Amino acid sequence: MAKGSKMADRIRSNVDKVRRNSKSELKSIPPHRHCVICRSVIKIDADPPVCSKQECIDKHRKNERSRKQLSILMYIFPAIAILLVILNVTQGGAA
Ligand SMILES: [Zn+2]
Repeated sequence: MAKGSKMADRIRSNVDKVRRNSKSELKSIPPHRHCVICRSVIKIDADPPVCSKQECIDKHRKNERSRKQLSILMYIFPAIAILLVILNVTQGGAA
């Protein structure tokens, strides 16, 4: 029993140490961002949020384009669905 509690104490102190360490590390790291493609550290105000590598710039541009297309589709599909519903309703009313 005594052995077990000693072990628990040791684990607890280790956890405390790790917790303190990670906290101090968090404080010592200045604010920064990561490249959305390769995750390397970039300036906090970098816009677009990619590093200076041409590969990352190209990939990010491609991602942005597909995201824009997706958001356009997200607007177009409901619009078409609503249009179809309206057409159905008006046709149903006429017939
Ligand atoms: Zn990058």
